[in-house]
Amino acid sequence: MKHKRLLSALLAAVMVLCAFCSCNVEEIFGDLPYAVEEAFKPDLLVHFLDVGQGDSIFVELPNGKTMLIDTGENYHGEAIIDYISQCGYKRIDYLVGTHPHSDHIGSMSYLVRNFKIGSIYMPKVSSNTEMYKNLLKSIKKQDLTVKNPRAGLKIIRGEDFSARVIGPLEIDKDNLNNCSLVIRLDYRDTSFLFTGDAEKEELESINADMNADVLKVGHHGSTSSTNKAFLERVRPQIAVISCGENNDYGHPHQATLRLLKNEGCDVYRTDRDGTVTVYTDGYRIGVDTNGKSIGRAKN
Ligand SMILES: [Zn+2]
Repeated sequence: MKHKRLLSALLAAVMVLCAFCSCNVEEIFGDLPYAVEEAFKPDLLVHFLDVGQGDSIFVELPNGKTMLIDTGENYHGEAIIDYISQCGYKRIDYLVGTHPHSDHIGSMSYLVRNFKIGSIYMPKVSSNTEMYKNLLKSIKKQDLTVKNPRAGLKIIRGEDFSARVIGPLEIDKDNLNNCSLVIRLDYRDTSFLFTGDAEKEELESINADMNADVLKVGHHGSTSSTNKAFLERVRPQIAVISCGENNDYGHPHQATLRLLKNEGCDVYRTDRDGTVTVYTDGYRIGVDTNGKSIGRAKN
């Protein structure tokens, strides 16, 4: 008994000493009898690049590969390449153009001509703009081809992560927004939903599971994309809106912000937060809003 008390006193003294000199208890006592939580080591990072009024989302995958969803307007190409290069990458393995509007595929031609690209995915719809025609020319010149994935197709298959196209189910030639490739990215227990500019009609038609932790809010926060029924299907914890400061469209709309707030989402906006990076180890999620702007507007 006396020995036990002495041992307890000795242990307490060592613990106090450790607290002061901040040495490692484990070094003194060997393996601790309980599991010490490992440090949070995120290996999937999603950068919602601040490209002003437009979308461009750079994804670092757990296997070292990369995906870029959309490319902003036509004057962002160089800055996007700089950003990706600074992250330590020399190629985009999966390049996605959600739909052929300039604020989404504006710099795609530049990227195809000036960076190493793996696979290219776009919806099965064309546009008669010069920008679109130039993009197709650049793709052909680089001996690349465009894949038109149908809903349900997994474009990325990893050991414990995947990216699946879940929309559109039908092509609406009269509304390119509703042709947006909608992509669900899953990693272990976490998921992300990227909606491009898909509006309510397309989002309502999707029959796949849309429940996700992180939502790229559709169409720059417009009311044309977000309603209560949609948010109840997604139930996001984190919502990211990609839009330009003082843009001409009034994005994000106040009604959308109210809906997101009522759902209890943490809302991030590239017009206020700059580039927003959401990172995860597949279980926990963190957000960094100190990302540098890569060019909010042309002037
Ligand atoms: Zn757009």
